[in-house]
Amino acid sequence: MAAVQLKQIYKKYDDTQVLHGIDLDIADGEFVVLVGPSGCGKSTLMRMVAGLESISDGDFYIDGKRANDLPPQQRNIAMVFQSYALYPHLTVYENIAFGPRLRKEPESSFGPRIKAAAAMLNLSPYLQRLPKALSGGQRQRVAMGRAVVREPALFLFDEPLSNLDAKLRVQMRAEIKALHQRLKNTVIYVTHDQIEAITMGDRIVVMNAGKIEQVGKPLDIYDRPANLFVAGFIGSPSMNFIAGTVQIDANQPSLITANDIKIKLPQLDLKAGQKITIGIRPEHIRIERTNNSSNIKLRLDIIEPTGSETYLYGKIDHAPCCIALRERLNFAADDEIQANLPIEHLHVFDTETTCRIN
Ligand code: ADP
Repeated sequence: MAAVQLKQIYKKYDDTQVLHGIDLDIADGEFVVLVGPSGCGKSTLMRMVAGLESISDGDFYIDGKRANDLPPQQRNIAMVFQSYALYPHLTVYENIAFGPRLRKEPESSFGPRIKAAAAMLNLSPYLQRLPKALSGGQRQRVAMGRAVVREPALFLFDEPLSNLDAKLRVQMRAEIKALHQRLKNTVIYVTHDQIEAITMGDRIVVMNAGKIEQVGKPLDIYDRPANLFVAGFIGSPSMNFIAGTVQIDANQPSLITANDIKIKLPQLDLKAGQKITIGIRPEHIRIERTNNSSNIKLRLDIIEPTGSETYLYGKIDHAPCCIALRERLNFAADDEIQANLPIEHLHVFDTETTCRIN
């Protein structure tokens, strides 16, 4: 069992305030991903949970008990870092056995746990090998094995896949998720990679500059980002933004850009003259073949085929715009196309507060 609660958590290093009042409830057995750009305070928060960093202010609870000053070894937590930090002179088995031996556990107790962990992590054939004879992915699995044999109530992963190549990252993502489904313990996972966050988390916590911007299920956040930061951070290629002012004609609101492009808006609580920014995801922009007054003309700058999708880059009213297409259409740089921004896919934000307008 490990439910974790953070209440108004602050962190200050000398004069620098790094975390500004973090509130977060993590249920027992949940897989929560902390995601945000480098330097936003994710690792600091995780190290506080591990007991490796003091809490400047606020309350931290494990299973309802205040644990601000609980020593790390009493927290029933295991951590997996980006650098696997394996002992090069010890075999895989001895690397995993290092912790239990240090705690003076008898081998009759931890031996079977190592065998079970090795089987689960596909490491059984490698137990007698030295780390130098393993691939990057296998080394990362040994680091996970060390965490698993502790049978912790809470797993902390700090960017564990950053050192792996792209293909291995995708594979390990699935393995960590499968491990969680089997062990069902609580996981807090830190990453700056929003794809990792979306694919792995039961819930994701989007952080920026020491604050939480939004907490929610991955697809809820993708579909309804709470503000401009989250809208731009989650999703790849990023959401497109167009800024302008609200105009209302006979109850129909529209966005008018600086260069007088007019885009129809959904019926929301908007005021004439209000400065807003609309967002639309690259996959939601449609290319139109027939002329229509609501189409937007777009000159293409760059065409980027990825195999499964093609990205078309251009500009709408000087703002960069990306369109993601699943079909392979023959476009070239400098072509002019007509784009349609379907009203049901528009996200509308107040430019000043940056908040979503519902
Ligand atoms: P992230 O994990 O999101 O990249 P960190 O939690 O590592 O961010 O860092 C958050 C901020 O705190 C950064 O601006 C970093 O420079 C600062 N910071 C981290 N550790 C220390 C420290 N020991 N002393 C002073 N500043 C620190």
